[in-house]
Amino acid sequence: DSKDYDSETESVCPFCGVGCKVSLKVKDGKVKYVEGINGPANEGRLCVKGRFGFDYIHHPHRLTKPLIRREDAPAKGLNVDPSNLSTHFREATWEEAMDLASSRLKALRDQDPHNVAGFGSAKCTNEEAYLFQKFIRQGFGHNNVDHCTRLCHASSVAALIENVGSGAVTATFNEIENADVAIIIGANPIENHPVAATYFKQFTKRGGKLIVMDPRGVGMRKFADEMLQFRPGADVSMLNAIMNVIVEEELYDSQYIHRWTENWEAEKEHLRAFTPEAMAPICGIDPDQLRRVARIFAQAKAGLIFWGMGVSQHIHGTDNSRCLISLALMTGNVGKPGAGLHPLRGQNNVQGASDAGLIPMFLPDYKTVTDDNIRAQFTSVWGSEDFSNEKGLTVTEIIDQAYAGNIKGMYIQGENPAMSDPDVGHARDALAKLELMIVQDIFLTETANYADIILPASALYEKNGTVSNTNRQVQRVRPAVAPPGEAREDWKITVELAQRIGLNWSYSDVSEVFAEMKLTMESLDNITWERLETETITYPSLSETDPGQAIVFGDGFPRADGRAKFTPASVIQPDEAPDEEYPMIATTGRQLEHWHTGSMTRRATVLDAVEPEANCSMNPRQLKLMGIEPGETIRLTTRRGSIEIMVRADRAIAEDMVFIPFAYVEAAANILTNSAIDPYGKIPEFKFSAIRVEKI
Ligand code: SF4
Repeated sequence: DSKDYDSETESVCPFCGVGCKVSLKVKDGKVKYVEGINGPANEGRLCVKGRFGFDYIHHPHRLTKPLIRREDAPAKGLNVDPSNLSTHFREATWEEAMDLASSRLKALRDQDPHNVAGFGSAKCTNEEAYLFQKFIRQGFGHNNVDHCTRLCHASSVAALIENVGSGAVTATFNEIENADVAIIIGANPIENHPVAATYFKQFTKRGGKLIVMDPRGVGMRKFADEMLQFRPGADVSMLNAIMNVIVEEELYDSQYIHRWTENWEAEKEHLRAFTPEAMAPICGIDPDQLRRVARIFAQAKAGLIFWGMGVSQHIHGTDNSRCLISLALMTGNVGKPGAGLHPLRGQNNVQGASDAGLIPMFLPDYKTVTDDNIRAQFTSVWGSEDFSNEKGLTVTEIIDQAYAGNIKGMYIQGENPAMSDPDVGHARDALAKLELMIVQDIFLTETANYADIILPASALYEKNGTVSNTNRQVQRVRPAVAPPGEAREDWKITVELAQRIGLNWSYSDVSEVFAEMKLTMESLDNITWERLETETITYPSLSETDPGQAIVFGDGFPRADGRAKFTPASVIQPDEAPDEEYPMIATTGRQLEHWHTGSMTRRATVLDAVEPEANCSMNPRQLKLMGIEPGETIRLTTRRGSIEIMVRADRAIAEDMVFIPFAYVEAAANILTNSAIDPYGKIPEFKFSAIRVEKI
């Protein structure tokens, strides 16, 4: 036998929302290497993260035993050495840790159930997300449970639910095969969804027209027919100007609008004021180019729109998505091959965690908590009392309430708010104030530094369950290796904690959780555990032999009368304008080698070797003007705080901008970011902060 491994296991990459299927080759109890296999989203392809980023699961920093904060520990803060936890924590048995966690949760609940809130995770499986939201709702009677979708596509989901009746994509990204034109706006798929980007590049090779819109000259510009490098925060003015042209030149699809939409007349009238000439000074795009782009998109047979955090993470993020939805609707580009709306999901299971109800205003399948009949459906399945009909608090609202002392205890599973939240200094102060913080994770994350009790959990390659990618494709994940030491699968920890706080839970296998989810989630109709053994299934699946619908809403929308809605959007300025003291604009994001807060990829040998140092990027002309050499360390300061970080030269960055990846704790970008939120989608404005750059 020439095999260089002992066993192989099929699973799904733990990083981005593309959801590439992988085969994990295991030797001597460790994953030795990873190969891409033929999943519908990747057809054997993997990017550098999927192929080389797996060995974090064997890192010596893995948590292997429950930990309890020592009574004589120094004050809470980012001061624990992960190689020597004993200065702050002592090892405990599971029995002791779970006993302490449950008794303290019950004590807080006895005072007031609103004392306790929870953050679940898009890094976990669908079943784990479902159990987590049920834990808070059933165990504490309210909806104060959320996860990182709030920091990601909350505004996109809000606009999609409002206007097309569903928060998921209307077409898979693979539908680009059937498109004539595609818009990519506020997204950098070459770095953040690299395998999806390979399909986008193929599309341009076969003659598809690509329109890229972004304040940064992102990598896809090299493949674009039109690149619109617009002013940061000026999305609505640019998109409304494009739609103005479509209205004035009567390029819209009257038949589609008449048959499938409402509120068109109001939208049309609203758009009349947004002429290209009036909007060009705001968005910085030449009126001729705005007209050209409008004609290309409106006259194509089929067009797709992809967007990312550049669209969603603004105080007008919901308005940005409303514009994109209106653009697709007025050109009849929903519900047919090669057409649709596709917010590219960031984390590998942010779609699934949202579908599973890990959201303060929605139960599983986006069913509103305010409807008595809907809650009754869930409490009947759960065998429990009714819970609150009030929408719960979001991530940033929970942090604010913790800071104010109104939330006293938190259960945090796999999230890292001490790195990921805007104005993270405020978030860290809030976490330090909690009386009880239970963190369930695989590493001593920055958040776990503030914990009272730490429960060692599992990485995705150690788990059984399902995940759902950006394409609405449900896939099985399977354990290739056992969790290290005494670490456990997340769902098992939540189940035991639920039992210990008095809930009537009894699951002997994760497939039983999936079976319970199916009782309330029509999106899972015809998707069975047995089918998932061998298939990837896109929801909705119309029969037990249907692999699922790549395109939805060809025959109407899940709204009143089956009609989608136009919601006009006006121009709203970013929350803080640059001024003399803070004259430039900071935007944050990810880079190819590192994923989110870096807790996994910075512990992956190859990825850390390729990109080991905290960095930001600025335009070389600006650097020259300021007398700064690329590679120097500079100081970045906003109204929230200051970091020191190495700067690189990048011509793709506008001259008044700084781009800062948020993966580096030693120069945490979110110390700088603004926590002002979109009033509708409640997403913070990560993509625009007034900033000062100084040579040190
Ligand atoms: Fe993993 Fe995304 Fe890369 Fe695929 S594209 S290998 S899912 S990080």
